[in-house]
Amino acid sequence: MSKVIKPGSTIGMLGGGQLGRMVAQAGSAMGYRFVALDPTPDSPMGQVADQIVAAYNDREAAKELAGRSAVITYEFENVDAEVAAMLMAESYVPQGSKLLFTTQHRLREKEAIEAAGATVAPYCEVRSSEELLAAVQRFGTPCVLKTATGGYDGKGQWVIRSEEEVEEAYNTLAKAGVQLVVEQFIRFDKEISVIAARSTNGEVKVFPAAENIHVNNILHLSIVPARISDEMSKEAERLAFAIAEKLDVVGLIAVEMFAQSSGELYVNELAPRPHNSGHYTMEACRTSQFEQHVRAVCGLPLGDTTLMSPVVMVNVLGQHVEPLLDRISKPDEAAAALGVAPKLHLYGKKDAVHNRKMGHVNVLADTVDAALGWIDETKLWE
Ligand code: AMP
Repeated sequence: MSKVIKPGSTIGMLGGGQLGRMVAQAGSAMGYRFVALDPTPDSPMGQVADQIVAAYNDREAAKELAGRSAVITYEFENVDAEVAAMLMAESYVPQGSKLLFTTQHRLREKEAIEAAGATVAPYCEVRSSEELLAAVQRFGTPCVLKTATGGYDGKGQWVIRSEEEVEEAYNTLAKAGVQLVVEQFIRFDKEISVIAARSTNGEVKVFPAAENIHVNNILHLSIVPARISDEMSKEAERLAFAIAEKLDVVGLIAVEMFAQSSGELYVNELAPRPHNSGHYTMEACRTSQFEQHVRAVCGLPLGDTTLMSPVVMVNVLGQHVEPLLDRISKPDEAAAALGVAPKLHLYGKKDAVHNRKMGHVNVLADTVDAALGWIDETKLWE
């Protein structure tokens, strides 16, 4: 029998960024209280919840978090293993640390994905530039060299386009103690993702597949329904369900995939937390990914994930904030003409640095084309 953490209880969060903020906003509406542990004073989550200002590996602060919380969760995946172990000893951490251990390392992650019955791009570990050259000859070019740990938003990656690049690619990414993996390049038609939730009592629900468009390796758009066949959406959702079950997930797992027009699906990456490509659920689904996360870790029944409206989520980066605020401060004739409702979310970050994720807009519409039409018309994202 799993533990039920009822509304009114306090949920502790490792990390105080935008993902924690949106979990706190959804959970507060249900009556939960939140406390974040984050080193940045007045963090995005600290603005809407209590905050302990300290480093993530500060043992005293982690103890205080444990003392104040009925349950502890996290909003980023690079949680220090030692801190996780200590929190598990001192408090209730239903997500455990096994899934973090798996997803913090690309080789372990790929093995787990394959064990769950999904396909990944052909890959192998490389320990020298000679091994890399042999792999490049086997996989053909282009192929992708990645660090096994620590990469995000395309960092720690090198697309090798010819054998001449092997030496430089290897020397650039190889550092003491970092393992490297090389993957065959998948010529995909679309990038999609599915977010699944599994609760402490084993119930699993998946959200509708999102079609994701990246610009400079940063998510730009999530389009839902994804412009893929129903068959492929169902298969992607089935794979995410299987991964959540086989990996004993508690909370959310985002499953990123490459979709080929031939019908093939390759799982690229997992993220054991709320995901940028699930922000569309906030207004477009009956239950948001953030509410679902709270339900899952608190042992409540999971919410209905039905899509209520077509939607396009567009990310707001530092350079978009000012023009967007001008735009939303005036009557929007284009929105009225297209019949779309743009919903603004800003994360409360002070410095609107170029390419920093500052917020997003969920554009609700009768069709994804109307939502995309509004985004084009604003000329904010050109
Ligand atoms: P990742 O950090 O693994 O999510 O990769 C970042 C982006 O690089 C992905 O969203 C893809 O657009 C691209 N990419 C990564 N791996 C591959 C691959 N094996 N084949 C084709 N594109 C890839």
